[in-house]
Amino acid sequence: MPDYDVIITGAGMVGATLACALAKRSPARIAVIESTPPGTDLHPSFDDRGITLSLSSRRILTVLGLWNDVVEKNARPVRHIHVTDRGNPGCVRFNARELGFDALGYVVIARELGNTLLSNLRQAEGVDVFRPYTVCSVTNERGQVEVVCTQGEETRRLSARLLVVADGSQSALRSLLEITLQEKDYLQTAIVANVTVEKPQADTAYERFTDTGPLALLPLGGDRYVMVLTVPRQEAEKYTMLEDAALLRHLEERMGGRLGRFARVGKRRSYALRMIKPREQIRDRIVLLGDSAHALHPNGAQGLNLCLRDMAELTELLCGQLQSGGDPGSRGLLDRYLAARLPDQQWAIGFSDFLPWLFCNQQPVKVFLRNAGMILMDLFPSLQQAFVHRATGIHGRQPAMVRDIVI
Ligand SMILES: Cc1cc2nc3c(=O)[nH]c(=O)nc-3n(C[C@H](O)[C@H](O)[C@H](O)COP(=O)(O)OP(=O)(O)OC[C@H]3O[C@@H](n4cnc5c(N)ncnc54)[C@H](O)[C@@H]3O)c2cc1C
Repeated sequence: MPDYDVIITGAGMVGATLACALAKRSPARIAVIESTPPGTDLHPSFDDRGITLSLSSRRILTVLGLWNDVVEKNARPVRHIHVTDRGNPGCVRFNARELGFDALGYVVIARELGNTLLSNLRQAEGVDVFRPYTVCSVTNERGQVEVVCTQGEETRRLSARLLVVADGSQSALRSLLEITLQEKDYLQTAIVANVTVEKPQADTAYERFTDTGPLALLPLGGDRYVMVLTVPRQEAEKYTMLEDAALLRHLEERMGGRLGRFARVGKRRSYALRMIKPREQIRDRIVLLGDSAHALHPNGAQGLNLCLRDMAELTELLCGQLQSGGDPGSRGLLDRYLAARLPDQQWAIGFSDFLPWLFCNQQPVKVFLRNAGMILMDLFPSLQQAFVHRATGIHGRQPAMVRDIVI
């Protein structure tokens, strides 16, 4: 008999949410293995990055009882989005109320979301957390997966009927399993920092495409915004080393004075942007979840939102299986999971790849296409509505939690 029903490697945003979800909704015995030591300051997943959660993520976190903690303390609603192309006429203005939504998204700081998830994980029943442990081998034999993990000199052997690989885009487990990848390096770097501005616009996010790359500003309330400045990789160092005053002037100039003077900028972090698609997401008794299953360009704010919809589908299937005494690692269940999730994954991956193709480029034909598209979308609310349904993950066949159904 294996030690656990499910082992989850990686207590990042996706692994931690799955563990909380399964603990709340099923009788599963769960082990979570996380390589960083306790203390969220050291956790790479939960840094100061601003994450835009979509309506689908809000619904999932609400069903799991995690939303109130997050929203009451930290999440800022985005009720307006202004998209512009610097130096060109293209402009789209999304207004949540006019489109029939309370908000178009919610901005949370990754660290604050992490605090909520990790404190729920600590209290979850039936979950053993092994931290800091790093997985060094995986075997899959005799109807169970066995994982060997180490903490310094200490070694532990854990077995389960299902292994969920949720250790992020650079997944070490994926390499141990020799799963090959399709990769695309965008040769861009996203520089993220908090900024304050002189003339904030309430609950308004900005996406401004410029000849040096897109600049996104996500509202944090008051005069605070999260800045995501995407630049060509070879220029990234220049922007990370720039004096604060020079960077603030650069942002002001890129925004064309819309938000007045940029007053302060906090600590900068940079992220090399790549799309990573493994050629397999499931194997017998093994499933990749989160960024280990697909890491996307962040411009469309799809990454975590897509991962949470995958997580919701997997949770629903596993809960049904465990409640009826079935095998959580059965190939049939994993095949059903993947078949259900592939269409949404393909759309989100395609969309996230299409944005930099069309918008991070000054070729005249692309400039014309994107500006024509933006003008059309600005003129026709029905186009905006269809787009927002898709982009917020509530379109098409979605897990029950996205449909507000408590499983
Ligand atoms: C700049 C930027 C902005 C973004 N903005 C958005 C946004 O607005 N909206 C959105 O939806 N998404 C956004 N994303 C994407 C989002 O951050 C990711 O999709 C999300 O963090 C994936 O979570 P994860 O749990 O799969 O992986 P991670 O967050 O990377 O977590 C992996 C976990 O596994 C642990 N780990 C690693 N190796 C091992 C090992 N060998 N053994 C055990 N544990 C291990 C790590 O310590 C970590 O805790 C953005 C990403 C970036 C880079």
